[in-house]
Amino acid sequence: DITVDKIAAGEVVERPASVIKELVENSIDAHANKIEVEILAGGTSFIRVTDNGDGMDNPNARLAILRHATSKIKQVDDLMSIDTLGFRGEALPSIAAVSRFNLITRRPQDDLGTTIKLTGGRIDEIEDMGCNIGTTIKVEDLFFNVPARKKFLKTTTTEANKINDFIIKLALSKPNIAFKLINNNKIAITTPGNGSLYDAIECIYGAKVSEELLPIEAITDDIKVTGFISKPAIIRSSRSWQTFVINGRVVNSRIISKAIDNAYHSLLPKSGYPFVILNIEINKRTIDINVHPQKAEIKFEDESLLFKTIYHAVLEAVKPSDN
Ligand code: ADP
Ligand code: MG
Repeated sequence: DITVDKIAAGEVVERPASVIKELVENSIDAHANKIEVEILAGGTSFIRVTDNGDGMDNPNARLAILRHATSKIKQVDDLMSIDTLGFRGEALPSIAAVSRFNLITRRPQDDLGTTIKLTGGRIDEIEDMGCNIGTTIKVEDLFFNVPARKKFLKTTTTEANKINDFIIKLALSKPNIAFKLINNNKIAITTPGNGSLYDAIECIYGAKVSEELLPIEAITDDIKVTGFISKPAIIRSSRSWQTFVINGRVVNSRIISKAIDNAYHSLLPKSGYPFVILNIEINKRTIDINVHPQKAEIKFEDESLLFKTIYHAVLEAVKPSDN
């Protein structure tokens, strides 16, 4: 049901960066260790995500884009007004409903792969074809059939920046995956995927940043905090250079930001924000992650324990004797 898919699209697909988020997270779920994202015009005209993951056989490729429509809603005039539908794991049909969509996929054990092409959610073509192991998804002319959404997009530069920021944070959260982002035919991001967070940081931000980093480490019974924080030489004017990863997932958290600020500024009274990457492993029964696709807020059972652990870990890392 194309109407239902377009409604779901209003929830899952806000902009090119949200398409890329869904596609790349699928690649990670499919155990890829190499993921390449290519965009043109900020992803508005062209997105391609290629992975070397598990791939799909022909029946599963069909299933992936042909969702069972169970919604009661039959007609929608204005997608912008719909924000009540929860995220129901319907990314591919949602994206396909609002673009020219091409899926190419092959499992390692199959000789031939499958390609499926759709336009605005309607299937144009399903064929067997020779292709690499893994999955490639191409999304062209996003929102060509949803003018209200298209109008809401920012400039192609802004959309490209959002994609760039997202891939950076994701690459930092998964140092064992080699990421590449190609923006308008130029390599914007590349990481080695060798498991080293430090190497990923160096590839993304350059030696100027990586050479100014101090390691963070704190291990308690309940929380393990590792990562890097910058020496005072690198102070940023915004928090966009701070990445927090909890149990492998990039999140936003005011409590973590505050713990870092308090510790850093207690020793180094300066305005601005340090460059930080914190990797937190915590008992997953003590946290609650809001799974809304556009948010990554997280709630903690014991905020003050988390605050204290991070506060002391940062203090330990930046205190003068370590410099
Ligand atoms: P969800 O991820 O919530 O299951 P999606 O619409 O994102 O929903 O994907 C539908 C299904 O398609 C997935 O469950 C998975 O089986 C398959 N799939 C999607 N992307 C990939 C990929 N890159 N590699 C292998 N399988 C994929
Ligand atoms: Mg998915």
